[in-house]
Order: sequence, then C-alpha cells, then structure tokens
Amino acid sequence: MSVYTEIGLPRVINASGRMTKLGVSTISDRVARAAVAGGQSYVVIDDLMKRAGELIAEHTGAEDACPTSCASAAIALSVAALVTRGRWSDVARLPDSTGLPNEIVIQKGHSVEYGAPMPTMIRLGGGVPVEVGCANEVVPADIEEAITAKTAALFYVKSHHCVQKGMVDIETMRDIAHKHGLPFMMDCAAEEDFRKYIALGADLVCYSGAKALEATTSGFVCGRADIIDAVRKQYHGIGRAMKVGKEQIMGLLEALDQYDERDHEAQARHNLDTATWLADHIGAIGGLKAQVIQDEAGRAIWRCRVELDAGAVVGRTMSEVNDALLAGDPTVWTRTEFLNLGKIDFDPRPLVEGDKELIVEKLQSIIMEG
Ligand SMILES: *Cc1c(COP(=O)(O)O)cnc(C)c1O
Repeated sequence: MSVYTEIGLPRVINASGRMTKLGVSTISDRVARAAVAGGQSYVVIDDLMKRAGELIAEHTGAEDACPTSCASAAIALSVAALVTRGRWSDVARLPDSTGLPNEIVIQKGHSVEYGAPMPTMIRLGGGVPVEVGCANEVVPADIEEAITAKTAALFYVKSHHCVQKGMVDIETMRDIAHKHGLPFMMDCAAEEDFRKYIALGADLVCYSGAKALEATTSGFVCGRADIIDAVRKQYHGIGRAMKVGKEQIMGLLEALDQYDERDHEAQARHNLDTATWLADHIGAIGGLKAQVIQDEAGRAIWRCRVELDAGAVVGRTMSEVNDALLAGDPTVWTRTEFLNLGKIDFDPRPLVEGDKELIVEKLQSIIMEG
C-alpha cells in the first residue's frame, strides 16, 4: 500500500528510470526528515538562497550556485541571467527581451524533447534558440558562423536524449564560446558527476535534484559567481513562477551530503544482480528473449532488454505486450526508446521490494493469454 493506492490510484511498478511522469525518484528517510524540518520553520529566503548556493558550490567545485525548482527552471533562469546580465530593469521586463542580445546557440542534435521541448525552456527565459547544423551532423563552423552581436551564450546539452554521433564535443564548443568572450552553458540534468563539467570549464551547469541525487523535487545551477548572482535576481521576475520552497531546498542539501556518502559501487552491483535475475526469469518464459545490457552512454547502469523470440509464435507484438504491461493494476512502466525496434528495457534502479517478481508474473500471464 502507498498513499497513492489509498486515494484510489493503481500501484506503479517503475522499471523505466527517473521519469517525471512517474514522479522521478523516491526520497530517503534522511532527505524526507530534512524537508519536513525545513518546512516547519521560517527563514529569510534571500539568505537561504545564498547559503544553499555556497553549500552546493562546495559539492560542485563551482564559484557559486543557486537552487531552482527543477532542471528546466535552472535552464530558463540561466538563460534569463545571460540575457539580462542582471540589470534590474531588464529582469523586470522579461520575458520581453526585445533589443537585448538574446540568442542562445545550440546544436540541432541537442535541441531535444526530454518531456518538454528544450527551445521552450530557452524562450521562457527570454532567449531565442538558434539551432545550428543538421540533426545528425554539426561542424565547428556551424557554431562559429552563428555567433553575432545578438548572441548571449553557447549551450551544450549532455544527455542520452541527444544525438550522440556527429555533434561538436564539449571542449570544442567551450573553446569557441570563450574565444568570442561568450559564456558556455551546459544542461547536465541527469548526469551523476557534479564536478566534472565545472572542472572542464563550463561557465554554468544545470542539474536536476530529483534524478541522480534522489532529492526533493528541485534542481540547481552552478557556475561563475557573476552569472549566478544574475540568476538569483530572476526570483524577483520570471522566477517567481518557478518558486522553490524552503523544504525543497533543505531536502536538496541533505541529498547532496548523502550522495557523497553513498556506496555507488555496491548500488551498481545490486542493480546488475537485479538485471541478471530479471533476464534469467523473463528469458525462461516461452516466446521471450532477455539479456542484460549496459547503458548506452556507458554509465554503470545495467538493464534487462526483452524482445520476442524470433522462432516462437507469441501472437502479440512487443508493442501489444507493453500495452498489456501498462494496463491494469499494478501498472508496469518500462523504457520504450527502442520499442519501434521491438525491444523494451527494464531498469532495475527504481524497483522496490517485490516488484521484480510481479513483473515476471505479469509478463507470464500476458504471454499465456496470447
Ligand atoms: C530531465 C531532463 C531535464 C529536465 O529536468 P527537470 O528537473 O525535470 O526539469 C532537462 N534536460 C535533460 C537533458 C533532462 O534529461
């Protein structure tokens, strides 16, 4: 039973990952306690914003940081900071940025939909997205030649959602930005390394709090002190519509501490064990083929990939099998990025006690019904 089944909603088995449509992640008792305590006292919010920024900066190696309501808000507020450069009159008139240098240069293969379109977040902050190159190929000259007096920043998206081949790499794009005296901003929403991109010389890096960190719903941007200062000012403008609560911030800070103390190797081993268990048990169901695969981006994440056994007659397509997994109670959510190729992936990371057995049971009955 969960609070959600108590109000009449189906039990969700999340085998898909840190998905906003399923609530992203679950918080630990420690993070929950910090959030509750944070919600039970008053604080001067401007002071909390500054202090939380200092503490986040310690975890990231950045000069400064600013908490946000999510990574999307971090992107929008960062763009707003870059477009207004912190001038109060411009902060106050956003999202109207007429006449300001407001163009944000992004590679076409990075202009993705991650649950919402990336260009929308840029526009939300008063930016104008300038997509360069082609979806499957961008060369440095595409970026260089897009830079004009109207350019506010160059923006790199590090994500499995992006086209991985044919794009200009981080270092090259960073160098082009800096050669032109422009800030280099990155979206690393789902990344697990909170220091790497600052160390690589990015001026601003956006992260999600609820993804790798498993914090309260939140996010942050870290980077150059002068730009972060301009980010904070946005809370008196467009940022008001992206308010981040004191309880969210305290949960985020606790999650950052806890993340550093977590045994990441033991967690990866446990996930590999679960993926192997799933592959063994699902593979034993007649008509299905299952194998353990590693994350496409090479992270220490293993998943169980399932497809129809080519030789067997199942009487259902993989798409119908997936629909049947989603139907009823419990509802089972898989990764469907490769469903068009007849494959679904089970991500063991979000599974809770008893979930893996229910997955096998449900798959068994789906295949038996034919
Ligand atoms: C999830 C994601 C976001 C948005 O993160 P939220 O915290 O949900 O706003 C942005 N960019 C990428 C690449 C993502 O994967």
